[in-house]
Amino acid sequence: MSGPGLVITIEGPAGTGKSSVAHRLAQRLGLEFLDTGAMYRAAALLALEQGLSPDGGPVLAAAVERTPPRFDWCRSPPRMMLGGRDVSERIREADVTGIVSRVAACPEVRRQMVVSQRAAAAAHPRLVTEGRDQGSVVFPDAPLRIYLDAAPHVRARRRAEQLRASGRLATELEILQGILARDRI
Ligand code: C5P
Repeated sequence: MSGPGLVITIEGPAGTGKSSVAHRLAQRLGLEFLDTGAMYRAAALLALEQGLSPDGGPVLAAAVERTPPRFDWCRSPPRMMLGGRDVSERIREADVTGIVSRVAACPEVRRQMVVSQRAAAAAHPRLVTEGRDQGSVVFPDAPLRIYLDAAPHVRARRRAEQLRASGRLATELEILQGILARDRI
């Protein structure tokens, strides 16, 4: 990718449309796209597959060290790879979604992800990056940092529509409860 570096961060809680906005912005400005939620989801999948507790920070971090989630940047948007497998679809399943916020609450895992995200930006300096800590923690000096928020019921409605579009059943109330619980975590 040519031209000077440009990192744009999109931060905010779950279900506000960060990914949709980030994708469109990246496309429109010809930037690459970093989906940081996918990295935490891949760590959660690792915990499930290896029978590790989603709250076991040091043990989980050691597993992530051995099998780090990596993006295949040759594809657009980049695919999430884990141990040589493409897990981009698998990490959207309910079992992963159910534990990812616990995995993301482990400071040891967060530290690893922040290092990987900064390395990704060094290698791909024209980037839109999306996730709840991207502007405030990971790239505080980015030239444009966006905070995107919406009322919880609007976020629940968006998620329910997304799930229905992919053929899965979802009640808005359940999703709303999940969103509120994740906000608390
Ligand atoms: O955006 P997505 O729903 O894929 O993110 C999955 C989860 O990963 C979030 O709900 C959040 O718990 C965690 N996450 C995080 N920090 C980020 C990105 C995601 O804690 N930068």
